[in-house]
Amino acid sequence: MSAPNKSYDPVEVEALKPEQIERMRDEALAAFAAADSLDALQEAKVAHTGGTSPLALANREIGALPPHAKADAGKRVGQARGAVNKGLAARQTELEAERDARVLVEEAVDVTLPHDRVPAGARHPLTTLSERIEDIFVAMGYEVAEGPEAEAEWFNFDALNIGPDHPARGEADTFFVATASDSGSAAGSGGTGSGVVLRTHTSPVQIRSALDRELPVYVICPGRVYRTDELDATHTPVFHQVELLAIDEGLTMADLKGTLDHMVQSLFGAEMKTRLRPNFFPFTEPSAEMDMLCYVCRGASVGNPDRPCRTCSSEGWIELGGCGMVNPRVLTACGVDPEKYSGFAFGFGIERMLMFRHNVEDMRDMVEGDVRFTRPFGMEI
Ligand SMILES: [Zn+2]
Repeated sequence: MSAPNKSYDPVEVEALKPEQIERMRDEALAAFAAADSLDALQEAKVAHTGGTSPLALANREIGALPPHAKADAGKRVGQARGAVNKGLAARQTELEAERDARVLVEEAVDVTLPHDRVPAGARHPLTTLSERIEDIFVAMGYEVAEGPEAEAEWFNFDALNIGPDHPARGEADTFFVATASDSGSAAGSGGTGSGVVLRTHTSPVQIRSALDRELPVYVICPGRVYRTDELDATHTPVFHQVELLAIDEGLTMADLKGTLDHMVQSLFGAEMKTRLRPNFFPFTEPSAEMDMLCYVCRGASVGNPDRPCRTCSSEGWIELGGCGMVNPRVLTACGVDPEKYSGFAFGFGIERMLMFRHNVEDMRDMVEGDVRFTRPFGMEI
């Protein structure tokens, strides 16, 4: 840049001529107006306000002017740059407003549209009830035991004192998978050389537990069992049982009764209780049916014609399952000395318990997989 020169006339400097300054300003404003996006405006901004823009270059020439000419040229260039910056800011505001309006339209979410989220699954009420029952016994020190569903006949029947002629072994009740002759080495036969059945109760898990474990034994055996029943409102060929086995020194029916009371109180409330009625099962001696107080009328309908109860037919009690002291023959089959040890056992169906607890009237609802049935039980996972 040249030194100030008193004879220097700004009008002679091409870049500082008033019409040139106006042209630069108008070109800048026209470029801003023509910019149709914020990116285009940014380019125009660099071209017309940046360090190498015509107005910035003209501004540099002012320094070389003689003092008398500086103010005039400076004012002209300053006004032009002011107008350019104002025009730039105005166009910037316009384009930002346009962008915001466009985003609102393009990215709008219609909150009234039906959502397409896949609902999270939940566990079946039979599973949650089964685990709730397990929890009650685990809290008392019991262990949860499991076993195969295709089971050796020996575990399913013989070890439980259910002899070859017992009606429960008949084909009317049992799914036979393999006969004794063709299952000598079949999976699940346990090397007993007996046939294989789909287990008809979870009792074989008790036998396996007693054989496998050190004494004393306290196990709860939940699981799926099979009988050749037709599916109807109160029967299903596949259902769930929970069975319990305790073997220790000095166990009596009083221990059994106390355990049953604790279970129904945990499930149905503190005022619940059970009663035992004599019965016969091959694997327990003595054996009993266990009833629990009717969960609807709590016994208030008995002898009270004004308050009849449909659930218990005004009898006050509901049959829950079977129980008893483990038959010494079963203890012997498990290698336990019946002179030294005694045991108690009980078992009941989870489906039946679910029907009691939640007033389910038709067992088919539990197996049809309709979420309208399971949803009211909650989304516990
Ligand atoms: Zn009742």
